[in-house]
Parts: sequence; structure tokens; C-alpha cells
Amino acid sequence: MKSPSQTNAIDFDSAKLQRLGFGQQPPLLERPVSLAQLRQTLGLQLQTSLEPQRILGLFFREIQRLVPLDALSYEHQPSDLRLQFGARGHHSISYSLSHEGEQLGELVFRRNQRFSEQEQGNLESLLSTLLFPMRNALLYRAATQSALRDPLTDTGNRIAMDQTLEREIEMSRRHSQPLSLLMLDIDHFKHINDTYGHSAGDEVLKAVAASIKNQLRNVDMVFRFGGEEFLILLSNTSREAAAMVGERLRFAAQAQDYEAEGKMIELTVSIGCSTLLPGESAESLLRRADSALYVAKRAGRNRLAMAG
Ligand code: GH3
Ligand code: MG
Ligand code: MG
Repeated sequence: MKSPSQTNAIDFDSAKLQRLGFGQQPPLLERPVSLAQLRQTLGLQLQTSLEPQRILGLFFREIQRLVPLDALSYEHQPSDLRLQFGARGHHSISYSLSHEGEQLGELVFRRNQRFSEQEQGNLESLLSTLLFPMRNALLYRAATQSALRDPLTDTGNRIAMDQTLEREIEMSRRHSQPLSLLMLDIDHFKHINDTYGHSAGDEVLKAVAASIKNQLRNVDMVFRFGGEEFLILLSNTSREAAAMVGERLRFAAQAQDYEAEGKMIELTVSIGCSTLLPGESAESLLRRADSALYVAKRAGRNRLAMAG
């Protein structure tokens, strides 16, 4: 059975507070605040954070003083952000938020009881308190994210890698789970650059990164480590399982079609694999993967070598 739902577009510029009229009605006795009071409170509270999770969490909690809800979900596709508060409900109202043509995400309010006209009006009025806090939070998120990404291959950069590696090592220790690392380097990449030019080389780099990401569950754990070298972090993955993932990546990179000047390019990669030892540092884990990679290169390339 399809649950009753409604979709509405809210353009903050044209929808500006038209619904404020609802606030002038006397608040019902059991309602702890009026619309006007709540809007004022939210206006102050929501600007205290730049985290979408915290802003929407506060919003979800506070608006229930006026409109009880079972759930609130939020999605902003451009920044790959999905948040969910509360459980599910049969009835839903959706709003697509935008400001001056900028998409600020989709919000869905849910609950088991039908929404009244007045409640819907209140929700719409309250939504405008999200405009600037959410816009700032999304801008901030985009800025911090781009500072952590490699723009050519859309993988994490060195800064992201250092942060993630430290975090994953700590997690691995805390939960007594294995952590493995793959260091992948394109074979004879210099030859591709020399033969077809640097921009063809760039295209190949992008294609290799895409092929790696295609093979992995968690694309957030792929980093561009150097020019044509990638690092893949495999959380909760043993040495044996990591070797299998590594072989899968190697086959996929080889099977992918690469083209330059209308010609197909043969391409292979070599991989070094290390698994975190008790008490081992990030530097040592990286060094062991790098040494294994060197062994793979020396042994003739297009292969995977395990760190000792
Ligand atoms: P090996 O099999 O031993 O790894 O040989 P290789 O040629 O891949 O290794 P080498 O380290 O000698 O060369 C790597 C080349 O990668 C040299 C450098 O010009 C190129 N390179 C590094 N960064 C980029 C980049 O962003 N774009 C392009 N097109 N080339 C890059
Ligand atoms: Mg290379
Ligand atoms: Mg290299």
C-alpha cells in the first residue's frame, strides 16, 4: 500500500514567510510555544553550528514543540549527504529546498497521523529558519571536502589519507579487527606519457582510479598517494581477504579499455599489500606496503606481493 505523501517545492525567495499568518492564531494550550517564538529560537540555535547533522537534529527536536513528528529525513545529492532522524511514519510531506537557484536538499517529514493544513503551514514557515544555516553548512562541507580530494581522479588526497589511516588504525585496535593496505602503482606509466602525451596520461589515471573505485564497497578509502600511485585502505580485512581484493583490482585495471589517439593502450598495475601488526605505526604499515610493491615491480610487474 502506498502511503499518502505530498511533494512541495520551497523556493525561499518567493515563499518567504508568507505563512507567518498561522503564527498569529492563539497557540493551543498543550502546545508549548507559538510559531513566532519557535522561529525566533530556531533562528538563534541553528546558526550555532556548521554541521548539517547537528543543524537538522536541532531542527527536528525543536519543531516538535509545535508539530509532533515521527521522522525527518534529508538528502542533498550534490554533496552525497543523507541524514535520517527518528523512525518511520505513514504520512509524509516532502519539500525541495532551494535558494537563488541553488539546491539545498530534500526534506521529508513523516508521521503516522495525518498532517493538518495548519501544521503544514507551520512546517513551511519553520523551514525558512533552515535557509542560511543549511546553506552555510553545505558550503563549509563542500570547502572542507574539496580540501581533502584529488581533483583529477576524485579520490582522497594525502591529507585525507593521513587522517583516515590514523583513524582506521585506532578503530582496528579498539575493535580488534584486522586492517590491510594496498599500494597500487601503474606499470611503465612514464612510457604512456612519453608516447601519447601528458593529457592522455591524465585520462588513463582517471580511468584507473575509476576502475579501482568500481571494485570497492567503500570508495571513501581510495587515495591518490603519488603521481600514479594509489593507496587503498581495507578496514576489517585480513591478509588473505586483502590479497583477494588486490588481485581483483589488478585484473580489473588490466581488463579496462584505455584509449589514446584512437589506439588501445595495454596497461597493468603492480600492488603491494600489508596488514597491520600489533602496535605498528602508520608509517611502518605504509613502508611495508611500499616494500612489497617494490618486490612486485622487481619480480616483473603486473602482480601482487605480500609484505613479510
Ligand atoms: P614502474 O613500472 O616502475 O612504476 O614505471 P613507471 O614509468 O610507472 O614509473 P616512474 O615512477 O618512472 O614514472 C611515473 C610517471 O608518472 C612519471 C611522471 O611523469 C608521471 N606522472 C606523475 N603524475 C602524473 C600526472 O598527474 N599526470 C600524468 N600524466 N603523469 C604523471
Ligand atoms: Mg609506475
Ligand atoms: Mg610510481
